[in-house]
Amino acid sequence: MDYEDTLDRALSETPDEAEDAHRFEVPDPTIRQEGNATVYENFEETYDRLARDRDHLLKFLQTELGTSASIDARGRARFTGSFRERRVADAIDEYVDAYVRCDECESPDTRLVDEQGATVLKCDACGALSPVPDQ
Ligand SMILES: [Zn+2]
Repeated sequence: MDYEDTLDRALSETPDEAEDAHRFEVPDPTIRQEGNATVYENFEETYDRLARDRDHLLKFLQTELGTSASIDARGRARFTGSFRERRVADAIDEYVDAYVRCDECESPDTRLVDEQGATVLKCDACGALSPVPDQ
């Protein structure tokens, strides 16, 4: 048994997954006012990054912002009324806490799955199942 080999192997196996989890960045919302509506320019990029269903996220934002919303031809979300970028970013943070980040290990590497008729958050990193709020 060679000491150097053992050391090399130990170093290369040091997990850096925890660090990866903390590097997870949600794109900042790009918000533009258009008349009486607020347009979320990079909505598509956001749900893509979160790996979540477009309508699931849109429904959550409608509830959080207390308004109605639709998706336009270019895939942008349009909210009725005027909302600041900060307000939308806070709502996205809430969504990530509730429906994306694992309660146990903080990993964003998760999926929403059906478990005996209820939707739960399944973590691909640690295998934990966490309850999610009803929408
Ligand atoms: Zn986890």
